Amino acid sequence: MPKLSFNQVDFAYKQNKKTYPALHNLNLQIQKGEFVCVIGPSGSGKSTLLNLAAGLLQPDQGQILLDGKPMPRPNVDRAVVFQQYSLFPWLTAQENVAFGLRQAHRGMSKKEALARAADYLAQVEMADAGYKYPSQLSGGMRQRVAIARAVALQADMMLLDEPFGALDTKKRQDLQDLLEKLWENGGKQQTVLFITHDIEEAALLGNRIIFLDKGRIRKDIPLQLPRPRRLLANCRTGEYMETVEELKSLFYQYQDAEENWQEEVACL
Ligand code: ADP
Ligand code: MG
Repeated sequence: MPKLSFNQVDFAYKQNKKTYPALHNLNLQIQKGEFVCVIGPSGSGKSTLLNLAAGLLQPDQGQILLDGKPMPRPNVDRAVVFQQYSLFPWLTAQENVAFGLRQAHRGMSKKEALARAADYLAQVEMADAGYKYPSQLSGGMRQRVAIARAVALQADMMLLDEPFGALDTKKRQDLQDLLEKLWENGGKQQTVLFITHDIEEAALLGNRIIFLDKGRIRKDIPLQLPRPRRLLANCRTGEYMETVEELKSLFYQYQDAEENWQEEVACL
């Protein structure tokens, strides 16, 4: 049974009596332990897909199943990391992680949660910054904490929406490697849905890459390359580069008529 399945899902945003279609007849089955990267031009429906998977949005048509059952409300089984604002600004880094732990483990004392939070912060190399508030941290540090919190939840699924999108190349690479390592350390048991618009990031992280365009899946590419993949990426070796080239050509193929496609659909 798939961990997550989208069956003929349609979704449109409604605003001022107009509808803005975002996903069309989307079918997608994700197995437990898959690391799926969803890539596509801006406006292609990536965030909508993630928010549906988190249970933050409900489909207009079709069905979304988690472990074969109708999608429950958002809960700690699915840890979500956004590009920004994933942390509570009124809690320190350590308290943010501890908050996640206590949500996942009801009855855990605050003291124990804070102690365990410190371990998770150490894993993301943030051991010394636990007492700081999000506003006192750089973007890269905030995302480290957000990842620590998501990992601490030990959720079955991690849903990440361009989590490293606002970071410079070096910080981004560090966090990509870190995420890969944490996922591997967890025995690759977690199912990951990772949204990106960065081709290299998708090829670096995904066991499977879904190319989305105008709310439709245009390509579903399996990618079984050895890990860690940084070396393959740096050496620009065979299958890695083939995947990068394939994704590039998909972007070229679908970039035309990207603008205003919704208006056309909405006015039909
Ligand atoms: P992506 O994450 O790939 O950039 P989104 O899922 O955010 O794409 O958006 C899909 C489409 O839905 C886009 O064309 C976007 O303009 C539209 N959209 C997103 N959010 C809203 C909203 N709140 N109201 C109206 N249209 C929206
Ligand atoms: Mg988005």
